[in-house]
Amino acid sequence: MDASAGDLVAASPTPRLPVRDLAGHALGTFPVRRIYCVGRNFADHAREMGAVAPASKAERGTPVFFMKPADAIVVDGDVAYPPGTRDLHHEVELVVALGRDAPVGELPVAEASALVFAYTVGLDLTRRDLQAAAKAKGLPWDTGKGFDQSAPVGALVPASAVGDLAGLQLSLEVNGERRQQSGLDQLIWDVPEILHELSKLYALRAGDLVFMGTPAGVAALQPGDRFHARLGAITECRGRILPAAV
Ligand code: MN
Repeated sequence: MDASAGDLVAASPTPRLPVRDLAGHALGTFPVRRIYCVGRNFADHAREMGAVAPASKAERGTPVFFMKPADAIVVDGDVAYPPGTRDLHHEVELVVALGRDAPVGELPVAEASALVFAYTVGLDLTRRDLQAAAKAKGLPWDTGKGFDQSAPVGALVPASAVGDLAGLQLSLEVNGERRQQSGLDQLIWDVPEILHELSKLYALRAGDLVFMGTPAGVAALQPGDRFHARLGAITECRGRILPAAV
């Protein structure tokens, strides 16, 4: 193959997230490689979706994972109501950004935190009707989860400035009304445990994001709605649902 002529098709830009300090000052950008997502990682949400929540760590089994394309991110802004659904749902989530490649092989839980570069808050937007239909037939969730603009996220804040996650509250308001709220101490699988589990399946790399799963209170969004997600007082993600593109 002669590659000397270079790309024959226009390349899409690498999606990037802003990185800010706690005072909101810009530090630079984070190029996104992959987006991993965890399903059913809060007991109250697992129950509201009709699943059985594990009663203890020994009963957790294995986490549910799925992915979104990197260019599904929307940086702190507006989202067009997606095609193909009549039931777009919000899921507010902690988002973890990796700053280093994992070593080859399984990543020990005790070494996982060293990979974490930053945190933010985001929405795992979900076409719930398509996901429910796929679940009922035992089919993949891709069309319900991995669509364009399905991952609005706030600015990243370096992990060194965030401190202990377990003391932080994840929350979402829609049109000024509280829809979801939970402490991050309620995660069934914490961040090191999730990175350990992911490393059994994928080679984790710098640039990867992990959506950590949502607490109870998921519900529908309509065109015109304004959302405001917060990770404690650390960072936030706000925007509007715009009418469907034509
Ligand atoms: Mn989710």
